[in-house]
Amino acid sequence: WSRLAEGLARTASNLGQGITDLVSKRKLDADTLEELEDVLIRADLGVETSMRIVETVGKGRHDKMISPEEVKRLIAEEVERILIPVAQPLVVDAAHKPFVVLMVGVNGSGKTTTIGKLAAQWRTEGRKVVLAAGDTFRAAAIEQLKVWGARTGATVIAREQGSDAAGVAHEAVVEARATGADILMVDTAGRLQNRTELMAELEKVVRVIKKLEPSAPHAVLLVLDATVGQNALSQVEAFTRIAGVTGLVMTKLDGTARGGILVAIAAKHKLPVHLIGVGEAAEDLQPFAARDFARAIAG
Ligand code: GDP
Repeated sequence: WSRLAEGLARTASNLGQGITDLVSKRKLDADTLEELEDVLIRADLGVETSMRIVETVGKGRHDKMISPEEVKRLIAEEVERILIPVAQPLVVDAAHKPFVVLMVGVNGSGKTTTIGKLAAQWRTEGRKVVLAAGDTFRAAAIEQLKVWGARTGATVIAREQGSDAAGVAHEAVVEARATGADILMVDTAGRLQNRTELMAELEKVVRVIKKLEPSAPHAVLLVLDATVGQNALSQVEAFTRIAGVTGLVMTKLDGTARGGILVAIAAKHKLPVHLIGVGEAAEDLQPFAARDFARAIAG
């Protein structure tokens, strides 16, 4: 909880301060409620969600003086109600060996880092992990994955920059099966600028995986960078169409005041949110908990 609260401090101080400034000396009249809605919208919670929250806060309290703490508590409760249905842990189904996870998302969103953090956590639990360096466009991504492999003891399957991502995925599935790995995570390139190519590449990667493991991939995780704010919504739309996303990971919640975007995405897309990143260390990738998150962002 302390790491979460610390990580979300910027979002919390942005939202919390806005609420305190607004309601500490004023009645909860129509003007105040409208301004409260603006504060929530500015914190990236989305228009519809902000309206819904303000309605809850105002219900039965019109023209009353309400303390900032009480308003924050009401907001946290409403946010929690929105988040509860989407807060779902990432479950590794042991019936699948390897359990295959495809990681998608735009460049820089934190895919490779998230793979490394997950590898670290799963290795600590004693699971055997294989990583496929499928972002073959960027030499740095391949190198970064090798570093995580060395650090965590996960096997990394990589080829030189520019090689075929599907080839890497194929080799990784073969390796994972041959060595009895529990989990295979496949990194991918995230060039959303060229959607047709990206789609073709992801389709090919999936086809090659399915040839060896018909039930795979067992999870398709979209990694989103919280600092991009509202842009994250269009990334969810694009990747849901392109890649059949099964769940979300939101990173860099520590570096931004825009953590409210997660609430907007939850309300709009209802996709499971599995994990959040609140820092660079492996333990900063945390299971997403509705109550803790709601309390942490309301300030
Ligand atoms: P990729 O292109 O999607 O694979 O993105 P990377 O994994 O290379 O991440 C891009 C940058 O974001 C790196 O410098 C990471 O260290 C950083 N990063 C990833 N997740 C987090 C996070 O939760 N918090 C912070 N502060 N930085 C992160």
